[in-house]
Amino acid sequence: MVDVIITGGGPVGLMLAGELRLHGVHVVVLEKEKEPSGHARALGLHVRSIEVMDQRGLLERFLALGRQYPVRGSFAGITKPAPGRLDTAHPYILGIPQNLTERLLAEHAIEVGTEIRRGCELAGLSQDDTGVTAELADGTRLRGRYLVGCDGGRSIVRKLLGVGFPGEPARTEWLLAEAEVAATPQELDAAAARARTAGVRFGPAPHAVGVYGFVVPADGVTEDRTAPPTLEEFRQRLRALAGTDFGVHSPRRLTRFGDATRLAERYRSGRVLLAGDAAHVHPPLGGQGLNLGIQDAFNLGWKLAAEAVGWAPEALLDSYQAERHPVAADVLNNTRAQGELLSSEPGPQAVRQLVSELMDFEEVNRYLIEKITAIGVRYDFGDEHPLVGRRLRDIELKRGRLYTLMHGGRGLLLDQTGRLSVAGWADRVDHVVDVSEELDVPAVLLRPDGHVAWAGDDQQDLLSQLPRWFGAPVG
Ligand SMILES: Cc1cc2nc3c(=O)[nH]c(=O)nc-3n(C[C@H](O)[C@H](O)[C@H](O)COP(=O)(O)OP(=O)(O)OC[C@H]3O[C@@H](n4cnc5c(N)ncnc54)[C@H](O)[C@@H]3O)c2cc1C
Repeated sequence: MVDVIITGGGPVGLMLAGELRLHGVHVVVLEKEKEPSGHARALGLHVRSIEVMDQRGLLERFLALGRQYPVRGSFAGITKPAPGRLDTAHPYILGIPQNLTERLLAEHAIEVGTEIRRGCELAGLSQDDTGVTAELADGTRLRGRYLVGCDGGRSIVRKLLGVGFPGEPARTEWLLAEAEVAATPQELDAAAARARTAGVRFGPAPHAVGVYGFVVPADGVTEDRTAPPTLEEFRQRLRALAGTDFGVHSPRRLTRFGDATRLAERYRSGRVLLAGDAAHVHPPLGGQGLNLGIQDAFNLGWKLAAEAVGWAPEALLDSYQAERHPVAADVLNNTRAQGELLSSEPGPQAVRQLVSELMDFEEVNRYLIEKITAIGVRYDFGDEHPLVGRRLRDIELKRGRLYTLMHGGRGLLLDQTGRLSVAGWADRVDHVVDVSEELDVPAVLLRPDGHVAWAGDDQQDLLSQLPRWFGAPVG
């Protein structure tokens, strides 16, 4: 019996595994593919995911392989300069292809003791009062106390649970290809410029010498989107869009994706949970899907660990859905809005013009940036204090930086008064007495995911909040 079985070794499953292992939880990741794909879908990390990596001491590895681009206002392809002073110590986008993100998360997960079983496909599951039985495609079984489906948009876990996935089917489809080309870079650049002028985009993005990535609109929506496009289908679309197929050959990757937008009705069914694309899919506008999933894992990890270890208070695990489902619904909505603004119809074009004008107001621009980068997320903890429910950015303390104190994934009382105490929870919550010019409240209680659970200076008030997040005191 393992504590947690994670189905799916994509970015979300790997992130979750690392989080669970910080608390000593026995984790097995089942991944159906024998080898990592080596291909990138997502191309980068937004501010909140960068902060998450920093909070776990992983950021240096990502910075070493990625490229930093300053954050700017960007919504449905409308771009504006960033407003002054974003509320973060990391005001940039980190360009890093998804395959590298997955590699780094896998390395970390293994370092902290995760067992990743490749070539292991989940085919069935059943659950009872004490655990979940995973049935694998090779006929073997694995028993865990909990199971999390991180198995992507076509999640078998979600289907086996019978959890509804309402939303809209794909109305548009694109072909994504990585292939060698006979044409010169100059010919490709000139064709891309001509297409842009005509309002058509198809890439091409250089991946290696003579190898390019393309995204071209498909000719309609296929019924079976699991079937990859043929090279001939891709060539035809290029000829239709660019007037030439650039002599593409030897494809390294041919796949299709659509703009289906769907959200799981529930994130939990008994001992089985869903995270990442298994719980929500939407078009890649604004580059949010992987980021959203990593932040699901960051929210779920410590809560599920608390359940597995045994100190979780009532309702802690259910707060995962209560907090993350509305965040996903909001991301789906902003991608729907962006999709409308990209339409060439006169009505949406008029709204696009208006949105562009509104984005010239700093507050509107800031609001949209905080949405796309996810630093504006505020969970509803039922407390009016402006900090409570939000994540706290990294701040400078007298003795170092805040995020470096959070690498272990424990709760943290940052106490500027020196008069407070977390005795009784010291095995779950660190107490740091220090001061910061960037913090204008006497003390904050941070959850392991960096969200502010409490702010103030009253010990009795603090004592009323600690059990809600960290369970009963000991000793
Ligand atoms: C073209 C495109 C561009 C994108 N660009 C961006 C971007 O710029 N930024 C961004 O944030 N997001 C982007 N996304 C979205 C991002 O790729 C996904 O949100 C992300 O991959 C979700 O991660 P995941 O771990 O939930 O699922 P996945 O990455 O789909 O991983 C699921 C894993 O589960 C495994 N699996 C499936 N079934 C089983 C089974 N039965 N048993 C065992 N293992 C199983 C799969 O092999 C896979 O490894 C883009 C998506 C597309 C299509």
